[in-house]
Amino acid sequence: MDIRSIRKDFPILSHKIYDSPLIYFDNAATTQKPRCVVEKIEEGYYNANANIHRGVHFLSQEATEAHEKARRTVQKFINARSSNEIVFTRGTTESVNLVSSIFADACMNEGDEVIVSVMEHHSNIVPWQIQAARKGIAIKVIPMNEKGELQMDVYRNLFSEKTKIVAVTHVSNVLGTINPVKEIIEIAHEHEVPVLIDGAQSVPHLKVDVQDLDAEFYAFSAHKIYGPTGIGVLYGKEEWLDKLPPYQGGGEMIASVTFEKTTFNELPFKFEAGTPDFIGSTAMAEALNYISALGLDNIAAWENELLQYATEKLNTIEHMRIFGQARHKSSVLSFLAGDIHHYDMGMLLDRLGIAVRTGHHCAQPLMQALGIEGTVRASFSFYNTKEEIDAFVAGIERVCKMFH
Ligand code: PMP
Repeated sequence: MDIRSIRKDFPILSHKIYDSPLIYFDNAATTQKPRCVVEKIEEGYYNANANIHRGVHFLSQEATEAHEKARRTVQKFINARSSNEIVFTRGTTESVNLVSSIFADACMNEGDEVIVSVMEHHSNIVPWQIQAARKGIAIKVIPMNEKGELQMDVYRNLFSEKTKIVAVTHVSNVLGTINPVKEIIEIAHEHEVPVLIDGAQSVPHLKVDVQDLDAEFYAFSAHKIYGPTGIGVLYGKEEWLDKLPPYQGGGEMIASVTFEKTTFNELPFKFEAGTPDFIGSTAMAEALNYISALGLDNIAAWENELLQYATEKLNTIEHMRIFGQARHKSSVLSFLAGDIHHYDMGMLLDRLGIAVRTGHHCAQPLMQALGIEGTVRASFSFYNTKEEIDAFVAGIERVCKMFH
């Protein structure tokens, strides 16, 4: 990959922050957008803006076709069997809320259990807690070892006849751990339990094939994969989406409405009440096409090289603690340098133009398991360079000197 020319596709990367070139290492929070994605949004509003699906007029039909084409692009990108299995949502958070809400309603009773992992983002914990409070269900937690890998032997023993669903993250947004989701799903299926995978941190970095994984549900957000904010995807196996009840009511999701009886639309529209983000969907498809053209294997190889390079360099700094040493790891580096507060480190790096994230990263139970309040997190994208990592490491060394 020609990183120098790739960077030209992302105008924001040439910005200066406090007179220093921007070094953007907050990609796990959100990614920057290539010009083609931003242009797609502009083009949508200028040339193809009309509400979709019900319109007989030209513009409406064109917008509808663009939206449905975007759905097929998503389908191909994750290798779903059918475009009926692709539901557009507001993002991972809404996708998880959708599944937890309708699944708990239709398939869970008091005393039933959901299995999650200790490294979940709050968006795959709190929705289950809301259902726990509503329905009296229990949450079981897969623990991890000191490297930040899930303890699969414990996981195997968490199942009981009360276990109704497993919901785990593919990649940890804090530790970078790539969880063995295929094995997690296989084990759940031995117990005839369906699985929801939080793919927010996986789809931008590794090839995801939902048929190969055999997950019942898979959730992700467009903004983390170089697409726009406010839109994301819930993949669901057709047989499951078919039998589950709708999430929200409104336009689009019905077949017919009378005050006596309403019937619901076919998939995937049954789950898409109201006007969808039809500009966002086409921009998201543009982002997926951009990624596909670069090639996820190339992306993974370069990001892994950046991760190894940064890890080696960081390890040369005195009193450096890196959280997450899994064998299979994505390009996320969480760390603490001595007793320097993560917030101080983040603020001082910011003064050097370096954007990192600090805090609990919406994973407070994980922080409790690690016995810390928060970390500094650098997360790399294919558009990052080794020179940026050199500047980052020099920045950390400078902050360390200031404190000692
Ligand atoms: N899960 C994980 C693992 C994440 O990293 C995030 C975003 N930080 C989410 C879920 C939530 O994604 P969104 O805010 O786009 O809904």
